[in-house]
Amino acid sequence: MTEHADIIVIGGGTSGAVIAARLVAAGATVTVLEAGPDYGAFDAGRWPADLLDAHALATSHDWGYTSGPVPGRQPWHFERARVIGGCSAHNGAIAAVGHAADYDAWGLPEWRTARLRPLFALALQTMRVRTYATDEVGPFHARCLEAAAGCGWHMAEDLCDLDANASFGRESVNIVNRIRWNTAFAYLDPLRGSRQLRIIDRTHVDRLAESTDGATVFAIKDGKPVRYTADRVVLSAGVYGSPAILQRSGIGDPARLRQAGVTPVQALPGVGANLHDHPMVHADRVLGPALRQWLDEAAARGLLPEEQTLGKALSSQATDGIFDLHVFPVCGSNQTSLTDGRALVEVACMTPRSRGRVDIVAADPLAAPRIDHRYLSDPDGHDLAVLRDGLVLAEDLLEHPALARVLGPPCTDVSSDAAIRREVAHYYHPVGTCAMGAGPDAVCDARGGVYGHERITVGDVSLMPQIPRANTNVPAVVIGERIAELLTAG
Ligand SMILES: Cc1cc2nc3c(=O)[nH]c(=O)nc-3n(C[C@H](O)[C@H](O)[C@H](O)COP(=O)(O)OP(=O)(O)OC[C@H]3O[C@@H](n4cnc5c(N)ncnc54)[C@H](O)[C@@H]3O)c2cc1C
Repeated sequence: MTEHADIIVIGGGTSGAVIAARLVAAGATVTVLEAGPDYGAFDAGRWPADLLDAHALATSHDWGYTSGPVPGRQPWHFERARVIGGCSAHNGAIAAVGHAADYDAWGLPEWRTARLRPLFALALQTMRVRTYATDEVGPFHARCLEAAAGCGWHMAEDLCDLDANASFGRESVNIVNRIRWNTAFAYLDPLRGSRQLRIIDRTHVDRLAESTDGATVFAIKDGKPVRYTADRVVLSAGVYGSPAILQRSGIGDPARLRQAGVTPVQALPGVGANLHDHPMVHADRVLGPALRQWLDEAAARGLLPEEQTLGKALSSQATDGIFDLHVFPVCGSNQTSLTDGRALVEVACMTPRSRGRVDIVAADPLAAPRIDHRYLSDPDGHDLAVLRDGLVLAEDLLEHPALARVLGPPCTDVSSDAAIRREVAHYYHPVGTCAMGAGPDAVCDARGGVYGHERITVGDVSLMPQIPRANTNVPAVVIGERIAELLTAG
């Protein structure tokens, strides 16, 4: 047992790093328990190269979650980072905020967009977000901008705007001199000398228990059981980790808990439910020889992010008049790219209605949870219909002469609903498994407090009742800022 802290933050990931930093700044003693390694401050120079290099997704620190075999298609990989900084340390570093209507739609006064606006501004500034300059745009994306203008898209200077609707433009990123600027650098580094902050890495949390005078966290460190105590625990273990820890603590759907061999402590059936993400599919083309050569030359000069441009569009399903599609080209050089000699235009449904679940399968803390996203399962076929409309926009872009001149034939068949179901991927944005709200499936109140547990707060993207129309990294930072604000406000 180590010394008692005011607050334990479980998971030093994207939101967890923000919460820990803000609570320390407000005068609390904070212990961060992180399953993965902590490589120290950026300046110390100990971070692995792939976690720093923003030009490709990093894979070295993944939890390794998969769906297992799926009939008729490849298994799903559900990427999540196991390292201080969490997914912000291995993701695409694309910054987005969604639309103002997204947060108002949660129906929670504490999370109204008007309240969140200053926190979005603060998050963008602290994460050092900037928009790609025109002269940074590579040869493929320059043609995408030309094609989008030619296809009649409204061209925007700043896509990171809560009030902007359908538009196409250069992306915003949290990349500083090719470095993926994660929340550990942005939030923890300035406090690393503080005696109030203790980061205990390589510590896998099993479960927690609340008592009248505090909370105890049970974990595994170096293969041995350890315990930590605090006045309050903030659960920031992410969309799969946070519900799993609650479930192992006996908080969840009693029948499912018993099935996993856990004795129920409190019935909260929504724990692990409401799992959702942006489903995504792409149209593609083989790269023509001239474009291949330009891409190789650009890669040799070090100038080749695969994603640099993005469009927001309305499908026929967008009855609220706000964009419900992301349409974004992706392309790398033949040598270095995951796109493997192809140019892709990805389309993602930003207002998904399909819902899945995450559940522990055993009391063993090291057993991976069962993750069942149920993509494209909504009974009205809404999500599939949005993707179909998006593919029409993607084809229009690819057929525009600015692109068609430098591209070859299509590779992937997405011409039928069956083909879309076979090819559908995810946008890496799972949320919602400890949702805030007042309904029967809500897990947390509007301050992130777990119902029935005064000393346990959730602080990560699992709180979102409904995913915003945005990549979720900046929203995860804002969740961290807001939860810290609510906790320090008493
Ligand atoms: C490959 C990939 C690419 C992405 N690209 C983008 C992008 O370009 N732009 C964007 O906006 N979003 C992107 N995202 C999504 C975004 O990064 C996430 O939504 C966001 O970072 C989630 O933050 P979080 O705090 O909820 O969880 P995380 O950042 O996952 O933090 C959870 C932390 O808890 C730790 N943890 C989990 N379980 C335990 C346990 N039992 N004990 C101790 N610690 C534990 C984890 O190791 C992790 O550090 C991407 C995600 C991935 C995976």
